[in-house]
Amino acid sequence: IGGGDMPVMISFLNSLSGVAAMLTGFVIGNTMLIIGGSLVGASGLILTNIMCRGMNRSLGNVLFSAVGATTAKAKRRNKDEVPAYTAEDAAIVLENAQSIIVTPGYGLAVAQAQHVTRELADVLTGNGASVKYAIHPVAGRMPGHMNVLLAEADVDYDQLYEMDEINDEFERTDVCLVIGANDVVNPVARTDPTGPLAGMPILNCDKARTVMIIKRSLSPGFAGVDNPLFYDAKTMMLFGDGKKVVQSLLSELKG
Ligand code: NDP
Repeated sequence: IGGGDMPVMISFLNSLSGVAAMLTGFVIGNTMLIIGGSLVGASGLILTNIMCRGMNRSLGNVLFSAVGATTAKAKRRNKDEVPAYTAEDAAIVLENAQSIIVTPGYGLAVAQAQHVTRELADVLTGNGASVKYAIHPVAGRMPGHMNVLLAEADVDYDQLYEMDEINDEFERTDVCLVIGANDVVNPVARTDPTGPLAGMPILNCDKARTVMIIKRSLSPGFAGVDNPLFYDAKTMMLFGDGKKVVQSLLSELKG
C-alpha cells in the first residue's frame, strides 16, 4: 500500500471487520451480531468511499497499484540546509498579516498544541486579521482527527474549512501557518506521478504569500517523501515542538 493511501486501507479493514462479524452472526444464528456487523460493514464502506474521493483514487487503485513497487526512502536532511527563523521574526510577519490560514497536521496532535493554537488565533483576530483553519481529509492519523482536536479547544466550527472550500483562497492569503502538517501540504503530490502521494489532492499552502512551517526537523511525514516546500524561498521554518513554538509566538505577540 502506498504510504499516503493508509487511511483508506484502515477504513476498509474496519469495514471488513463488520462483514466478518455479520457472517459469524449467520453461522451461529445470532441476529444482533448480523445487525451490528452489517452496520459496521456498511458505515465502513461509506467512509472508505469518502476517503477514496479525498485521496482522488479508486479502491482498486489503492489496493493494487503499489503491489511489487519499491519506494526510494527520503534522504536524511540536516536542519542547516534551510534558514531557521525565530518566533520573533515570525511574530513580526503575523502582526502585519491581514489574512492567515492555519493548517494543522499530525504534529499538532503529537504536541497537543490545539489549545495554544486557538489562543494564538484569538490574539491574531483581536489584531484585526482574518483567521481560518484548513482541514485536509487525511490530516492526522484517523478520519476527523483535526476536527476532534480543534473542537476540544473550542475553535468555532465556522472557522474550519474543508480542502475544497478553502483551496482557492491560499493565493489571496498573507500567511499560511502550518503546524505539524507535512504530507497534506507536500507539492510533490502534484508533480511526481509515481510516488506514494501521486495524485493526492493537497492543501495549496505553497500558493500563500508567506508560508510558516512549525515542526522539529526536516524529516518527511507518514508517506516518507521529502517536502520541497521546506526549501521554498517564501517559507519560514520554525523548528521546535509545536506547542512550545506556538507558545513563543503568543508571548512575542502579546509582548
Ligand atoms: P505527516 O505524518 O505527513 O507529518 C507530520 C509531521 O509532524 C512530521 O513531519 C513531524 O515532523 C511533525 N511533528 C511530529 N511531532 C511534532 C511535534 N511534537 N511538534 C511539531 N511537529 C511535529 O502528517 P499530515 O497530517 O500532514 O499527514 C497525515 C499522513 O498520515 C498522510 O500521509 C496520511 O495518508 C497518513 N495517515 C492518515 C490517516 C487518517 O486517517 N487521517 C491514517 C493513517 C495514515 P518532525 O518530526 O520534523 O517534527
